[in-house]
Amino acid sequence: MESKFRHLPSVDKVLADPRLQPLAAAYPHDFLLDLARHQLGQSRQAITAGQPSPSLDEIVEAVKQQAMALEKPSLRPVINASGVILHTNLGRAPLSREAIAAMSAITPGYCNLEFDLASGIRGTRHTHIEPLLCQLTGAEAAFVVNNNAAAVLLSLTALAKRKEVIVSRGQAVEIGGGFRVPDVMRQSGAKLVEVGTTNCTYLADYEAAITPRTAALLRVHSSNFRVVGFTQSVAIEELANMAKQHNLPVLDDIGSGCLLDATKFGLAAEPMPQQSIAAGSGLVLFSGDKLLGGPQAGIIAGKKALVDQLKKHPLARAVRIDKVSLAGLIATLVHYLKGEAVSKIPVWQMIAAPLEDIERRARDWAQVIGGAAKVIEGETEIGGGSLPGSTLPTRPVAITLRGATPMALAQKLRQRDIPVIGRISSNALLLDPRTVLPEEDQVVSETLQRILS
Ligand SMILES: *Cc1c(COP(=O)(O)O)cnc(C)c1O
Repeated sequence: MESKFRHLPSVDKVLADPRLQPLAAAYPHDFLLDLARHQLGQSRQAITAGQPSPSLDEIVEAVKQQAMALEKPSLRPVINASGVILHTNLGRAPLSREAIAAMSAITPGYCNLEFDLASGIRGTRHTHIEPLLCQLTGAEAAFVVNNNAAAVLLSLTALAKRKEVIVSRGQAVEIGGGFRVPDVMRQSGAKLVEVGTTNCTYLADYEAAITPRTAALLRVHSSNFRVVGFTQSVAIEELANMAKQHNLPVLDDIGSGCLLDATKFGLAAEPMPQQSIAAGSGLVLFSGDKLLGGPQAGIIAGKKALVDQLKKHPLARAVRIDKVSLAGLIATLVHYLKGEAVSKIPVWQMIAAPLEDIERRARDWAQVIGGAAKVIEGETEIGGGSLPGSTLPTRPVAITLRGATPMALAQKLRQRDIPVIGRISSNALLLDPRTVLPEEDQVVSETLQRILS
């Protein structure tokens, strides 16, 4: 019986093909052998499934494509024209020049991460950032972990394992991306005691739930949604005062780490770490890469006795921050110290950008496109679970092409070497200049020119 695989080339024949010789010179033999075998295996499966035998050309081409796909980094820069400033899927906050410089300075070699230069003995990575965080938040002590989810998990684990933590029913929420307060609580070994109702929780509800097993009261900022209408929640001052009488700490997960007053920028009020500390919370927990505008990090600030318990907990080691993020975070915090956050931190530059500037940039982009583009009125979202329902006015370019759906156009823009990410609304593709760094304008214009010509 003749094999149905008889038309398939041998592995040797594939590897000897002249078209693979440039790859053979660049990669170890075993790697190409592996790809060729894999490809021939797939071909056999396809033939078994009743498909025609692929040609040598097709197999060689597939091996080439696979090698190139592995070599080309799939993680790469994109231009965020989506109109969401803190886009979690696009890596959240872009960084200031100073933060980038600080990170580049630390990256290539050694640094005194955990080494005290004065005494020449072991130090801790917290010493580099703790005074800065204390100064900015008014806290007694502070330290930094991998992200805010880790900060919450570590706080609950270190302070409330096998004990009870009281949370308002309206705050036992899902922040997104799988961060659910009840799940994190379970993971930490703390028992969630929900009080109040979805829309209303009173101070008396918290107080009535306190037992000898209570370890803490948790407040969670409802970062990504709003409850409107008949609502009642307890202010952090009230909660902290009552908790103090019972000798219990309030853990305040504020989410975003907004160190500036958001209302000054036409936005809704966002909880600020310094307010939470002043109000008497035991620990305030927030992200480094949301409205703070720095690299991914989870910041913990508050009472020294509590922070110390967290620092020495074994889980702290598992969620510790790396030296590069630490350097970027320090540089970002220095902008706040110097009062230059709005002029140096891209997130705040975007928030503060005057509408006239945005409109001018939109017109420049639209001009490249011609008749298919219109500058329209729109709204930029803050995103990243910050300031839900609070938006900034903007002037996106709306593109509608004859013979191409907005989806098709969006896909084309995503397929560029530097992908441009837009948003589809009312059957048009919208590109929002507010979320694009001004130094990226040129690339956006060139990309639009290429796509539309
Ligand atoms: C975003 C957010 C988190 C999670 O923070 P990450 O830094 O993404 O881990 C936790 N709690 C609240 C209230 C948040 O808004």
